Amino acid sequence: MLSYRHSFHAGNHADVLKHTVQSLIIESLKEKEKPFLYLDTHAGAGRYQLSGEHAERTGEYLEGIARIWQRDDIPEELAAYMSVVNHFNRNENLRYYPGSPLIARQLLREDDKLHLTELHPSDFPLLRSEFQKDDRTRVARADGYQQLKAQLPPPSRRGLILMDPPYEMKTDYQDVVKGIQEGYKRFATGTYALWYPVVMRQQIKKMLRDLEATGIRRILQIELGVRPDSDQRGMTASGMIVINPPWKLEQQMNNVLPWLLKVLVPSGTGHTTVNWVVPE
Ligand code: SAM
Repeated sequence: MLSYRHSFHAGNHADVLKHTVQSLIIESLKEKEKPFLYLDTHAGAGRYQLSGEHAERTGEYLEGIARIWQRDDIPEELAAYMSVVNHFNRNENLRYYPGSPLIARQLLREDDKLHLTELHPSDFPLLRSEFQKDDRTRVARADGYQQLKAQLPPPSRRGLILMDPPYEMKTDYQDVVKGIQEGYKRFATGTYALWYPVVMRQQIKKMLRDLEATGIRRILQIELGVRPDSDQRGMTASGMIVINPPWKLEQQMNNVLPWLLKVLVPSGTGHTTVNWVVPE
C-alpha cells in the first residue's frame, strides 16, 4: 500500500522538527574533514510546491514553516535549515519546501555521498530528476529497510541514516526497530535518526520499549507536541529518535525547542521533550 504522499504535509510542524534535527546532525558531521554517507531510506519526492493543490488542500505548512521563515529572531540552531529553505525561496514568497534529500544535497560537501530510496511510482521519478546532475548521489526505487543491510557500513565508516516511513501500515512501528537493529549490527558507530508521529501514544511507548530491548545504547528522544495526546484521529505530536547523536545535539535542542514551541504552537497547548531513552 503506497497511498501516502508527502506533498500534503510538506513544511508542517513535524517537518520543521525533523529537518531541524537532520540539519544539526549534518552540520556536526561536517566538523570532521572525513567524508560521510547520508542514507535516506524513505526519501519522498525531494521538492514540494507549497502553492500546489496538495499543500493548499491541507494548509499544514501554514502552521509550520510559514510561521517561522521570515521572522527576525530565528535562533542560530536553525541557521543551516533556514539557509536551505531560503535557497529555494529567493524572493519574498514561500513557494517551495525542500524535503530531506534536498536539505542534505545543499548541506553536504563535495566528497560526501548520498544514497536515497523511494518506492512511490509518482514520487520516485520526481526525486530522480532532482538528482540527475549530482554525481555524489545514488537514487534507487527500492525498499528503504533493505538499505540498512545492503548499504552499511559505508566505506567511509561515517554516516547519518535518516528513516522517515509514512507509518501507513502498523508494521512500520516494528519494521523501524528491526531495520535499526540490522543497521546497527553492521555499523554501530553510525548516527541513526528515526522520525515518528504521535497518533496513539501506546504505539510510541511500545516502539521505545522494543528499541530499549535491542540493547542499543545512546538513544535520545526529541519531541514537539501541538496538542495533548488523544485517542481521536490525527497527529498530536511528532518526534525524532536519534541513536549516537552528536554530543551537542541534546543542548542544541534544549535551546531551540522552547522557541519552536512558542512560534509553532501559539495556543499554548503543546509540549517539548528531550530525553535519553537509553543513556551512554
Ligand atoms: N523523508 C522525506 C522528507 O523529509 O522530505 C519524506 C518522506 S515521506 C514521510 C515517506 C516516504 O516513504 C513516502 O514518499 C513513501 O512513498 C515512501 N515509502 C513508503 N514505504 C517505503 C519503503 N518501504 N521504502 C522506501 N520508501 C518508502
